[in-house]
Amino acid sequence: ASVAMGFDYNPDFNGTQQEGAGLYQQTIKEGKRHSAAAAFLVPILQRRNLTITTGALVTRLLFEGTRTVGVEYLHEGMLHQVRVEREVILSAGAFDSPKLLMLSGIGDAAHLQTLGISVVVELPGVGQNLQDHIFSPVVYQATQDLHFASTSSIGEAGLFLHSKWNSAVAPDLQFLFGSIQLLPPSYAPAAFGFTGAVALTHLQNIGSVGLRTPDPKDTPMLRMNYLQNETDVKKLVEGIKLMRQLFHSNFFDEFRGAEIAPGAEVQSDEALVAYIRNNCSTVWHPVGTCKMGIDPMAVVDPELRVHGVEGLRVVDASIMPTITTGNTNAPTIMIGEKAADLIKAGRTARTVLSKSNVQNPAYSSI
Ligand SMILES: Cc1cc2nc3c(=O)[nH]c(=O)nc-3n(C[C@H](O)[C@H](O)[C@H](O)COP(=O)(O)OP(=O)(O)OC[C@H]3O[C@@H](n4cnc5c(N)ncnc54)[C@H](O)[C@@H]3O)c2cc1C
Repeated sequence: ASVAMGFDYNPDFNGTQQEGAGLYQQTIKEGKRHSAAAAFLVPILQRRNLTITTGALVTRLLFEGTRTVGVEYLHEGMLHQVRVEREVILSAGAFDSPKLLMLSGIGDAAHLQTLGISVVVELPGVGQNLQDHIFSPVVYQATQDLHFASTSSIGEAGLFLHSKWNSAVAPDLQFLFGSIQLLPPSYAPAAFGFTGAVALTHLQNIGSVGLRTPDPKDTPMLRMNYLQNETDVKKLVEGIKLMRQLFHSNFFDEFRGAEIAPGAEVQSDEALVAYIRNNCSTVWHPVGTCKMGIDPMAVVDPELRVHGVEGLRVVDASIMPTITTGNTNAPTIMIGEKAADLIKAGRTARTVLSKSNVQNPAYSSI
């Protein structure tokens, strides 16, 4: 339907151009979604130098001066401490990595002091720069069973495009198609229908993560700031209109039942804006709260080491300076792969250095 409407067919969203319609690449193995744990951890569970503790809540990082020396965690009601020889790698995601840094004394000094947390290093960027994707769904009943597979990722086909407000290289609208009803407000998938999710890839507003209390068991305070920008709302309105046009093309004639959301009666721009404001959802892609960079608001350097402290890296979606123009899971796996390369390269460099120390005592103080 998209190609018939004039959009390019795109066989590879990660190829030479992102614009166009096609099928998403997915982390699927033998017909099932393949998580990072299944792909990377399960195959090495038997390694003797690997210990995994599940059901543990990390409560803070431990420091001696500005050197990270370990981690404190709560497990089965008991507080434990584990010390590290080399470094701590923090991968708690875009909400909890900044939360743990702040609980450990790394963040905006004024914010930490209001909660009585001693400052180890002032890094005002911790928890700032929160970015996410949001979507509004267009949902139809189907006139026949579309045989939705319970192992489907729901959004299997899609379309990236530029709205008329976008002069950047990256598309600002993403459409995801799934042969299932994904109906607000619960968004619990239900069979016998189809959904086109209209998503914004680069929202104009930036949010933040802060602490509500110094108690690690408390959830952090999230300021998402969705839809503060009128152009973002207009883009969603135009996206819903386009989605409806696609669903009303003859390709959908044999499948199309009644429109359930926004609903056939929701036609004017004002009614669509109200629908969007009442029903839009996150695409669950938070990033950016421990951003990589070398400016004063950066939290980690280009090798993912936290500025101002030793022995601590952040490796997760929080380090993205800018959100990706599409889903975040594969880019986050790439961040993990890159971090592994950086860590291994650092160890090789240290080994070479320590060997040369033996040969040249002048360097023994390094
Ligand atoms: C419902 C949902 C659907 C999604 N669908 C897609 C999709 O279809 N495609 C896509 O590309 N992306 C999808 N995403 C986004 C994708 O899952 C994330 O971008 C990715 O998982 C981010 O990885 P991360 O390592 O930064 O954080 P996470 O995967 O969130 O990992 C952080 C981990 O740290 C743990 N943790 C946090 N705090 C602590 C603590 N104090 N102590 C101990 N452990 C802690 C958490 O339990 C979690 O296991 C989806 C996300 C959600 C929530």
